[in-house]
Amino acid sequence: MYQLTDTATIKRLLGGQDFRFSKALGQNFLIDPAVCPAMAKQAGLSNDTGALEIGAGIGVLTVELAKEAKKVVTFEIDDRLLPVLARTLADCPNTTVLHQDILKTDLPSLVRENFGEMPVSVCANLPYYITSPILMFLLESGVSFQTITVMVQKEAAERICAPVGSRNAGALTAAVDYRAEAELLFEVKRTSFLPPPKVDSAVIRLTPRQKPKVQVKNEAFFFRVIKSAFAQRRKTALNSLSAGLALPKETIASALESMGLPPTVRAETFTLEQFASLADHLTGQ
Ligand code: SAM
Repeated sequence: MYQLTDTATIKRLLGGQDFRFSKALGQNFLIDPAVCPAMAKQAGLSNDTGALEIGAGIGVLTVELAKEAKKVVTFEIDDRLLPVLARTLADCPNTTVLHQDILKTDLPSLVRENFGEMPVSVCANLPYYITSPILMFLLESGVSFQTITVMVQKEAAERICAPVGSRNAGALTAAVDYRAEAELLFEVKRTSFLPPPKVDSAVIRLTPRQKPKVQVKNEAFFFRVIKSAFAQRRKTALNSLSAGLALPKETIASALESMGLPPTVRAETFTLEQFASLADHLTGQ
């Protein structure tokens, strides 16, 4: 058993001082011994369930998931870490490492092949440069994950978990709220990582809904409306939507008016129901 939160052990496993942590791949490894066990516990795993991890690193969270779940599948894109993982996960026979870019996988097939009918939860310390693409990829994949428990930048966590219609909300808040309930579990200081990132982090848990929170005529267009509304935060929703959707201001203004909203309204005050109603008003315009 390796002490995977011990800095000297990590450096030795990575082959000494020559190893360069890749900023481009978001490599900040957890060194706080309390965090990974806490994340694995909060993921709601059991000896009947599977765990999917994105970004194994040296396997510090993977070993904790292997204790809680029946089976673990973890992705790692950096080939330098594969021989390290072969050593650190040698005592975890229920774990499979896939050397793949998570965003380039056929997730439904992969989950079916690896987990069969087992319920599956996601638990990961995400590479921050692709937080939104990964969350949307998971939520849009068609796989019904039990829960998605992930470490993200603190600011992203606060934004994702803010109520839609509040100042802190953004396009990702609305897109996540459409598919899942989000809760902020606990914060993690930047000193809990090697190397330390410039910002603090937080662990959030998404619980996917059985069906989307609102009904819309055209889902792709609904997401375009949300993205366009938030694209230029300093502008009114009217100006931002007109630019983003390439529609005349009069068309947007009349849709807003028929919803009882003034032309000065801002995207962050919209509820999810209002985004749905606006998208339905504008569908086909
Ligand atoms: N789980 C480890 C931990 O908590 O210490 C490592 C987390 S580190 C924040 C993110 C990991 O994701 C890195 O090891 C990085 O190489 C890997 N990674 C980055 N982009 C990836 C991608 N597109 N697909 C799979 N893994 C990726």
